[in-house]
This record gives sequence, structure tokens and C-alpha cells, in this order.
Amino acid sequence: MDNSMYSRLGIGSEVLAFCEKTLAELEPRFKKIDETAEYNQLKVISAMQENRVNAACFAATTGYGYDDAGRDNLERVYASVFGTQAALVRPQITCGTHALAVALSAILRPGDTLLSPVGKPYDTLEEVIGIRESKCSLKEFGVNYAQVDLLPDGSFDLDGIRAAINETTKMVTIQRSKGYQTRPTLSVERIGELIAFVKSVKPDIICMVDNCYGEFVQKIEPSDVGADMIVGSLIKNPGGGLAPIGGYICGTKECVEKCAYRLSAPGLGQEVGANLGIMPAFYQGFFMAPTVVAGALKGAVFAGLCYEKLGFRCVPNGTEERYDIIQAVELGSRERMVAFCRGIQAAAPVDSYVTPEPWPMPGYDSDVIMAAGAFVQGSSIELSADGPIKEPYAVYFQGGLTWYHAKLGIMMSLQKLFEKGLIELQKKRLPGGVPFLSFA
Ligand SMILES: *Cc1c(COP(=O)(O)O)cnc(C)c1O
Repeated sequence: MDNSMYSRLGIGSEVLAFCEKTLAELEPRFKKIDETAEYNQLKVISAMQENRVNAACFAATTGYGYDDAGRDNLERVYASVFGTQAALVRPQITCGTHALAVALSAILRPGDTLLSPVGKPYDTLEEVIGIRESKCSLKEFGVNYAQVDLLPDGSFDLDGIRAAINETTKMVTIQRSKGYQTRPTLSVERIGELIAFVKSVKPDIICMVDNCYGEFVQKIEPSDVGADMIVGSLIKNPGGGLAPIGGYICGTKECVEKCAYRLSAPGLGQEVGANLGIMPAFYQGFFMAPTVVAGALKGAVFAGLCYEKLGFRCVPNGTEERYDIIQAVELGSRERMVAFCRGIQAAAPVDSYVTPEPWPMPGYDSDVIMAAGAFVQGSSIELSADGPIKEPYAVYFQGGLTWYHAKLGIMMSLQKLFEKGLIELQKKRLPGGVPFLSFA
């Protein structure tokens, strides 16, 4: 391997040797990731062929957007890939939180109860639901919320869930990814078991899955195992890095219709919503998504194993199966978090000269540090890292539009830690003369 470009970018021989050694162990994992990507790539191509995608689909529409054939066909492509009756895929859905808020408020009515059987939902949903007070929360509209936490071993509290379901329970929300928590991410298979259980207790409950960060990580999606709706953001996995905005809701015809009425207006639904020229990015991004997700997954696995070898706690650990693209690394100190994020930033194609600093952020009780050098602002399918500066000093690392960029980011983070003496090259050498890095 010609490492001259790594040297030119500032990666030293110690870090290079450590990374090469670590990578050699990952071959079987990478092979499995590639296999899933290949399957999902074919799934997307097949859906595009079935729906006869052609150049006319990429035309821009303005105004009301009536008869927007490209938009309507993209929604058929999504429905076909996710195995659902219908889909709503729109630039008018501003982000993942918006998509989830639309889905929840489309189904729930005053007096209904929303149940989360997998613990606390993603931070931004607390205000949507009204767990934290907010104007216009579901709570303000008389919607109740119930929560059953996972058991300490990470399994579902089936007795607790059964007891929590009553005649007002209209809808269940299941978050696939751990998000910024330490619980394990749910596999699609486990989500299927949970949905089957919930429906065995009360068959007419609408089951929604927050699919953020999970799309294309496995060969099946929650919609293949009984979810009535799956919801996500286009500046994460399914946008493939090309979508500059947007969200999706895929599910039963009845659910998606209600969501469309909620998003635009009762009576209008999916008929309105001009695409403003965004269709090429949406189609091409969805086409790229399986391989982009594979690159991000390889980055996550590589980061997990590197940092675990150095003695840091990683969630998931270096060998566990992965069901989303997020890697948490507990670095144990502010200095290490700063050095890690500066490495990620220094490896970026955009804003590489910027120096991330910890900063107070609204909604957080500690300073937060963030590294992102992205083409699409805030995009977390692009290489990024962030975390609150407090115990256990964990950084959350995700994305990478290509595996090589993710790899460089991780190497650069190691380099910054190494240069600051925050990880140390030991005298000891592993068999084969490879230097052994550990943290000081
Ligand atoms: C990112 C994310 C959201 C919210 O998406 P935004 O686009 O940031 O609003 C919701 N749930 C999970 C699990 C997420 O990862």
C-alpha cells in the first residue's frame, strides 16, 4: 500500500502501523457489510426499474405541484424498497423530528395514548410529545404518553408492556437506533418480535418505527416485520449524502394518507407540494444510499475496534453486530474529546481548517463539542462527531460518504490524541514488530 498521501496529510508511521494491523482483523466484517450493501443496491435498482424511472422524473415543478409525476414516482420507489403500500417523501418535511411529529399527530387524537415500549425516545421528541413542556406539544392537544423501559439486560419488559396497554392506547413508537443513549440498538428482527407482541395484546394498535440511522444497515427494514409506519430523515442514510433536505414516512395507505393530510392540509394531502428541482438529488441519493451506508458502517466498525484496542469503552464494542451507523467511544476526559473532534474536523473536505471548541448549547446542561465538515449543513450521514463534555466523556461518531474518508477521519483522530500524549506508544511490540498503542 502506498501511504505517501497519509504522510502528506499528517498521519505518522506509528498510527499508520496500528491502523493497518487493526484493519487486517476486520476483513470478515467488511465482507459481510459489502454483501448487505450489494443486496440493498439491487433492491433499490429493482424498485427503480419496476417503476420505470426516467429523465422526466427529474423535472422541477413549482407552485402547487399538482400532477408532479417525478415526486409521485419517487414515492412509489420508496414504497417498493421498504415494502409498504404507500410513501410520503418530501422536501417539505424539514427533518427527522418533523417527519416523526407529522406521523404522531396524524394518528393520535385527544384522549388517545402513545406508548413507547423501549424507554425514553430521542431528545427532540420529548418536546413533540410533551415529556418536556413545549407549545403545541401532543400533550397540549390532550394526547397521553406512557413509557415502559427496557429491562436492565436490554430485553423487552413484556409484562410491563402488557400492563401499560389499555383501551386508549392508539399508537406505539419504537426507536430503532440507540440515538445518544447507551442502550443497544434494536435489530429489525427484535423490532418484529416486539410488534407481534404488541399486536397480540391489542391488534389495532398502530406501530410506528423511528428508523433514523438504521436504513440499509440490514437486508430487511421494520416495515418488513409488521410496522405500520417507518419514519426517517433524508440528511441521514436514505438521502445518500445528496439530498440537501427532507424526510420520509412509509407505511400503510391509510397511515400515509393521514400523514399527508397533516403535512399539507385536510383534503389536499399528497396532491400538493412542488419539488422545486430537488428530484435528481432525491433519486440519485437513494440510489447511492446502500453503498454510502456501507462506508459509514465500515468507519464505525473500524473506530470501534481501534479505540477498544486502546482500552476505551466502545458502544457497540469491536465485535458486536451493528444495527445502526453510530459509534460511541467513552474517552474519559475533556482533552481527549477535544483532540478526537479536532482530528475528525481536520480530515474533512469542507471547513478542515476550523478548530472545534467546546461550547454551551441550548437544551444541554454542559458544554458540547462538535466536528463536522459537511457539504450539507448538519448532515450526519457525512462524517461527524459530537458529544456533551461530561462523564463519561463519550463522543458519538457517525457517517462518512466514503469509507476512505471515514478511515482518514479515524486515523486523524488517533494522530491528534497521539501527538498530545493522550494515547501512548508503548515500548512493547506486538508479534510482527507492530507498535502497540495504548492510552496514557
Ligand atoms: C436524528 C434522529 C432524529 C431526529 O432527526 P433530525 O433530523 O435531527 O430532526 C430522531 N430520532 C433518531 C433516532 C435520530 O437519530
